[in-house]
Amino acid sequence: MQQFPEHLLSGYRNFMSGRYNDERDRYRTLAEAGQNPHTLVVACCDSRAAPETIFDCGPGELFVVRNVANMVPPYEPDGQYHATSAAIEFAVQALKIPNIVIMGHGRCGGIKAALDPDMEPLSPGDFIGKWMGLVRPAADQIQSNDLMTASERQTALERVSIRNSISNLRTFPYVRALEEQGKVLLHGAWFDISTGELWIMDAKTGDFGRPSDRSAAPLEDSEPAA
Ligand SMILES: [Zn+2]
Repeated sequence: MQQFPEHLLSGYRNFMSGRYNDERDRYRTLAEAGQNPHTLVVACCDSRAAPETIFDCGPGELFVVRNVANMVPPYEPDGQYHATSAAIEFAVQALKIPNIVIMGHGRCGGIKAALDPDMEPLSPGDFIGKWMGLVRPAADQIQSNDLMTASERQTALERVSIRNSISNLRTFPYVRALEEQGKVLLHGAWFDISTGELWIMDAKTGDFGRPSDRSAAPLEDSEPAA
């Protein structure tokens, strides 16, 4: 029989003796009462950008959907397979989650692919090419900007794509209605893998900035406590 990866098994053993043991009651309560997460996070599949790790959240707190380049497609009730839209539907309509965060990140491979017009499909299906078509118009505009460096273009599209996903969220009729009623808030965030900085989108202007709260700064930047 094929062997299950040993590092996953040893990680599971650590989880059972550590976190599960410490939070046994919480897991039991969540099993009996059901989940009541406070935030839906749309994050990238990238192994370096796990929302539960970055936001230091325990079981039951985040409802997470991950896809290539953390995107939300427009509302398309066309009978096709829409994994991300299904997760949004369940999060908003069934779980009544009041916060939705689109969380992008630096050095995103999906965004990089969108900015590379010469990139060959990875397989005949070209699922990534089709999926990244969601930001094609923005990618084309940014790609043609000679004043920016490659990394500036990359960061720009990572952030434009977050705003694009928030616009697409508003094409879901129930998201739009609940947002208008103040029952759902839409947020954007961008995580810099190399520095650990989290940039938050200003809901009014769409600009990204670091939270002013010093305690949110990465450890090496924070000043010693007085
Ligand atoms: Zn990514």
